[in-house]
Amino acid sequence: STDTTATLPLAPPPGPRPGRAGSTLEAQAVSAWFGTHKVLERVGLAMAANTVTALIGPSGCGKSTFLRILNRMHELVPAAQLAGRVLLDGDDIYDPARRPIDTRRRVGMVFQKPNPFPTMSIYDNVVSGLKLTGRRGLDKDAVVHSALTRAGLWHEVRNRLRQPGGALSGGQQQRLCIARSLAVDPDVLLMDEPCSALDPTSTRRIEDTIAELRDEVTIVIVTHNMQQAQRVSDHCAFFLAAEGTPGHIVESGPTDEVFTDPRDPRTADYVAGRF
Ligand code: ADP
Ligand code: MG
Repeated sequence: STDTTATLPLAPPPGPRPGRAGSTLEAQAVSAWFGTHKVLERVGLAMAANTVTALIGPSGCGKSTFLRILNRMHELVPAAQLAGRVLLDGDDIYDPARRPIDTRRRVGMVFQKPNPFPTMSIYDNVVSGLKLTGRRGLDKDAVVHSALTRAGLWHEVRNRLRQPGGALSGGQQQRLCIARSLAVDPDVLLMDEPCSALDPTSTRRIEDTIAELRDEVTIVIVTHNMQQAQRVSDHCAFFLAAEGTPGHIVESGPTDEVFTDPRDPRTADYVAGRF
């Protein structure tokens, strides 16, 4: 038989697309206080590039605060005091020489409640973050097409890009928010309970999007849904703030191990839904 494959174009290599790859993120001994109330105690967590890390644990154990500390967003809404370090590709994001915006444009955030600008068009929502990048001469149409495609929303909205973001369904609004984050080409995407306000079908679509985005960004997701944590994450960190202690990581590791062979009995109880 004749080998015809030699004349065909080579398939792209597996792994991250060229020019798009996630960053490593590492929290080292992160503690946080609101006034005198200590809410995080020496949290250490390494998030490898192009992985999905799930943060799990009961309400009030500091997951959202920790997530905001990962992109300096906690400095915007009532500021928490902070100790410890956060390294993005090895560089401390709290280095006094680095501006908060330098981190926030590389580390995007998606919230529990979808928050597109409701009266702004779908198109303008997607490009709204671009002024952060400082890049000139971008082809906005191409950015919108790419971001909406990667967020799994393009085919649903391609003929209604001038309609307001607020006219979309909840699940679509959340994917619009993901597209808005992706438009600035982040290295990391932080997601704080992104599906808690969504129906099961919309939830599965977001999960599919997360699985696809993993090739281009590093993802950290807070979820109360244990099945979701198992479906989407490679690594899992269990936070707890029991009996008035500050939030801390009880255990973290590969998701399979945390769920099927946890080291700590409290983890076993939590992932089994016993509290
Ligand atoms: P989780 O996301 O795990 O539910 P949070 O990070 O929202 O936990 O909250 C952790 C602790 O910090 C809670 O005790 C909460 O009341 C407190 N907290 C969160 N945000 C603020 C704030 N802006 N001001 C004061 N206390 C806060
Ligand atoms: Mg929270």
